[in-house]
Amino acid sequence: MPTLSQEHPNLRIFEHPVIQDKLTKIRNKDTQHSVFRRLLNEIAGLMFFQMSRHYKTVEVPVQTPIEQSTGFCLASPITLVPILRAGVGMTDGVLAMIPDARVGHIGVYRDEKTKQPIPYYCKLPSDIATGHVLLIDPMLATGGSASYAAKILLEEYHCTKIQMMCLVASPEGVRKMQEEHPGLIIFTASLDRELNDSGYILPGLGDAGDRIFGTL
Ligand code: URA
Repeated sequence: MPTLSQEHPNLRIFEHPVIQDKLTKIRNKDTQHSVFRRLLNEIAGLMFFQMSRHYKTVEVPVQTPIEQSTGFCLASPITLVPILRAGVGMTDGVLAMIPDARVGHIGVYRDEKTKQPIPYYCKLPSDIATGHVLLIDPMLATGGSASYAAKILLEEYHCTKIQMMCLVASPEGVRKMQEEHPGLIIFTASLDRELNDSGYILPGLGDAGDRIFGTL
């Protein structure tokens, strides 16, 4: 189970030793992109498994090879919404757990000078609000992109069951999300120390997109 952050009511931290072991390998600057990508997806799958533990199920009949019985299936669809591009690096890990999930995409980049989010792409299922939504971005840094994406999901698509999955969060990003979208719970493997002047998380892991896709 993730730990409830003392300082941030909207944050849950996965302190599980297996997740922490993988995160430490990911942080290492010498970890190659193929290994980085695999570990990131493994963490995403482990996190999703816990994040989904309260999802509702409905009873369904099932005919086993021996007799008629009853089982359970998830009551509503799940939509993953990776924020392009780094969010894509966690998507396969979740899909390995729940292959039926739909995948929408939101493209937002951060203007390097103003640090403001600039939207450039959005494709989501029209009925996304009928089920759980997992907003995915490995790095919650300034919170600009995540907050923008959450605003689209809440205000344009009227989603009510949103969780955010990230790998590393900054205190600044978590606070921004709490101010702008209280009630939206963020799940992370680490709450790092701070942001530097360029908006990078410290100690962090560098540019997640570049490290996932080998574009350093
Ligand atoms: N995005 C990244 O990829 N890394 C950071 O440290 C901050 C934002």
